[in-house]
Amino acid sequence: MNLYARVMAQVAQRRHVSTLIIGSGFAGLGAAIRLAKDGLDDYLVVERAPEVGGTWRDNTYPGAACDVPSHLYSYSFELNPRWSRSFSPQPEIQDYLRTVANKYRVLDKHLFDTEVTHAEWDESTEQSGRHHERRVHRGRPGARGRRAVRAGAA
Ligand SMILES: Cc1cc2nc3c(=O)[nH]c(=O)nc-3n(C[C@H](O)[C@H](O)[C@H](O)COP(=O)(O)OP(=O)(O)OC[C@H]3O[C@@H](n4cnc5c(N)ncnc54)[C@H](O)[C@@H]3O)c2cc1C
Repeated sequence: MNLYARVMAQVAQRRHVSTLIIGSGFAGLGAAIRLAKDGLDDYLVVERAPEVGGTWRDNTYPGAACDVPSHLYSYSFELNPRWSRSFSPQPEIQDYLRTVANKYRVLDKHLFDTEVTHAEWDESTEQSGRHHERRVHRGRPGARGRRAVRAGAA
C-alpha cells in the first residue's frame, strides 16, 4: 500500500484527531514536528498541494530567494551548515523543507492534495471543531470528494 493509500485508510478509520494543522509550509510543518517531538501523535496535516513547502514550493520564478539570512530563516532545531549562500535560493529552501519533513518522519501524518473548505467551532463542547475538506483532483476539474473530520479533545 503506498503512502497516500495508508493515510487515507487511517483517516477513513478514525475521523477524529486532537490537532488539525492546515497547510504544510514553514509554519504547519514546524507545528507538526513540534507535536511529534512532544509525543503528541494524534494530529493530521491537511495540505492542498501535493507536497510540503508552501511559499517555497509555489514561488519558483527565476531569482527567487529569501531576504533573511538563511541561518536565521531555518528551524532553530534544524540548523543547516550546508546553505550555499547567505540568502539561499528557492530550490535550496524547498529542498531543506522536504529534507526536514523526511527526517522528522511527519509525512505519514499528511493528507496531500486535499483542501480544507470549511471549519467551525463546536459551541457545545468548546473543545472540538469540525472541518470539511475536498480532494484536489489535478487535471480533472469538477471531480471532487468531500469528507468531514473532527479535531479537538475526544
Ligand atoms: C515570493 C515570496 C518570498 C518570500 N520571501 C521571504 C523572505 O525572504 N523572508 C521571510 O521571512 N519571509 C518571506 N516570505 C514570507 C513567507 O511566506 C513566510 O516566511 C513563510 O514561508 C510562510 O510560511 P507559512 O507556513 O505561514 O505559509 P505558507 O508557506 O503560505 O504555507 C501555507 C500552506 O497552507 C496550504 N493551504 C492554505 N490554505 C489551505 C487550505 N484551505 N487547505 C489545505 N491547505 C491549505 C498552502 O498550500 C501552503 O502549502 C516570502 C513570501 C513570498 C510569497
